Amino acid sequence: MNVDILKKKNLRVTPFRKEVLDIFIRNDHAVSTQDIEDELKDFDRITLYRTIKSFINNGVIHEIVMPGDVKKLALCDVVCNHDEGLHEHNHIHFQCRQCQEVFCVEIDELPKIKVPGFIIEKQEIQAKGICGKCSATT
Ligand SMILES: [Zn+2]
Ligand SMILES: [Zn+2]
Ligand SMILES: [Zn+2]
Repeated sequence: MNVDILKKKNLRVTPFRKEVLDIFIRNDHAVSTQDIEDELKDFDRITLYRTIKSFINNGVIHEIVMPGDVKKLALCDVVCNHDEGLHEHNHIHFQCRQCQEVFCVEIDELPKIKVPGFIIEKQEIQAKGICGKCSATT
């Protein structure tokens, strides 16, 4: 399944790319570059950063910046408009204030905001609260 994502996004499949992609698939929440480094056993930092860059440029993953300079990476939706670095997805970014994890949460329809005089090319909705896992354990 994971190899398909790379092929679909016109990326050559390499063992390392597969390994990095697997980390995103394994986790149900967004991951930081530190998380990725922790999960990889043996890696070259430059290759890892190049891999992350090509994943972002090809619409495999996207960057999420949450308040407090929290930077995460997560898988893109199947449909991702990633032209010029804009990643448009049908989901919002949710941060759990208990486990601090960031999730891409799919919603039925993203409301399109219109502002006279401004051209909105990308809009992002962020939310904070308690995730399903944490609310189940409290
Ligand atoms: Zn994307
Ligand atoms: Zn949580
Ligand atoms: Zn996302």
